[in-house]
Amino acid sequence: MDEDFHFNEVKLSWQKTLSELKKSLDKNTFQNWIKPVSFESYDNGILSLSVPTRFLRDWIINNYASVIKRVCTDQGSQIKKLSIIVKEKNERIIPGTEAIYQDKEEEEDTYYDDISAPLDPKFTFDNFIVGKPNELAYAAAQRVAESEVVSFNPLFLYGGVGLGKTHLMHAVAWSIKKRSPKKNVVYLTAEKFMYQFIKALRFKNIMSFKEQFRSVDVLMIDDVQFIIGKDNTQEEFFHTFNTLVDKKRQIIISADKSPADLEGLEDRLKSRLGWGLVADIHPLTYELRLGILQSKSEQKNLKLSSEVLEFLANKITNNVREMEGALNRLAVHGSLQQSDISMDMVKDVLKDLLRTNSRKITIDEIQKKVTEHYNIRLSDMHSPRRSRSIARPRQVAMYLAKSITTRSLPEIGRKFGGRDHTTVIHAIKTIEEIMVNDPSLAEDIELLTRILQTS
Ligand code: ADP
Ligand code: MG
Repeated sequence: MDEDFHFNEVKLSWQKTLSELKKSLDKNTFQNWIKPVSFESYDNGILSLSVPTRFLRDWIINNYASVIKRVCTDQGSQIKKLSIIVKEKNERIIPGTEAIYQDKEEEEDTYYDDISAPLDPKFTFDNFIVGKPNELAYAAAQRVAESEVVSFNPLFLYGGVGLGKTHLMHAVAWSIKKRSPKKNVVYLTAEKFMYQFIKALRFKNIMSFKEQFRSVDVLMIDDVQFIIGKDNTQEEFFHTFNTLVDKKRQIIISADKSPADLEGLEDRLKSRLGWGLVADIHPLTYELRLGILQSKSEQKNLKLSSEVLEFLANKITNNVREMEGALNRLAVHGSLQQSDISMDMVKDVLKDLLRTNSRKITIDEIQKKVTEHYNIRLSDMHSPRRSRSIARPRQVAMYLAKSITTRSLPEIGRKFGGRDHTTVIHAIKTIEEIMVNDPSLAEDIELLTRILQTS
């Protein structure tokens, strides 16, 4: 049968499935859980869907996968497996997030796949740019990669999304594999660990599961926050961990928070995870962002003026992943246009990215910067005091909160000592009026805005 034809047919039947589901579920359930699901592809009996969050994915796999599959089959599509991936808002698939649902009797009984996930060839030490925010994590990772004996166990890396945790883990794995090809280095996400474990349970293969994990030389588990609340998996992880530590095998763990801050993780696991070296990766500084942009644009053969590089380093502040995304887009546009990449082009091509980046500024940060600038106390932001020297900066902060965050007026009011939203409106109007006649206030606002958007 013609592939496209089949694809369209399934897409159509997905539409029908949706309307069936809409009929059978209550309105809120449909709106909150099914509506965000998008059709991705249909290939060889595998229906691929995507959702915006891992949480939603798990929820659907656990609660609605069988229903979706059945309704879809009722609509005439042969579906053997349902795969759900997580896609970010900018449509990027988040690697390693695929979850599969299939009926029991159709599962292959060869359940072993390699317990280690593939390593990204680009994630090496050579390709990692080091600066203040990540120098400790980098040094620790190198130490682990190079030392013959286990020096600290585990190495626990933590930091926000897209700051290089996975990159560093892969770099350690590459480096060890290169030096000692015989060593069994296993890297996988906590999520995959869980799926392997559940699979083993279901196939009554738990002994060989344990065997497999307990025979590794170096075990790396990425994004361990994922197993919070998954009690059985935590338990198994804990045992695996202990066994390996006892055997003096190196363990590297990553998470989005420090062990102590991983709320919901069992206490004994928390404390065990903190035994070795805990190294955090801080949010990127301007210098490091600029360094990364320079090196990555060179790698991509993308010629950017220093004006553009500095602009990007100022504006794209969240993480390296977004910086790479921006460069990729510029590379595509640049090659289509065959011309130098101008500032106008940058602003146009990256419109949405630039917007989401400026949205991340919090009211707390605004209050902090404003109080620093005017040399008043942070508590003055919340206090009822009305003297001009305090009330004016407070109004400035409210004005900035409105202009550079997406918070609503009542939300802003609450953040300023529980003030009413009319007070916020008054503050904004006042500042707008004064700015017209007072260039120094206008300058203050501009300066503060720039500081906030670039720090
Ligand atoms: P995390 O695991 O912390 O979410 P990743 O390791 O996946 O982040 O990093 C996201 C992207 O950014 C990857 O492509 C990675 O290569 C890149 N990256 C992160 N930090 C650096 C750095 N210091 N130097 C070069 N590339 C980096
Ligand atoms: Mg990662």
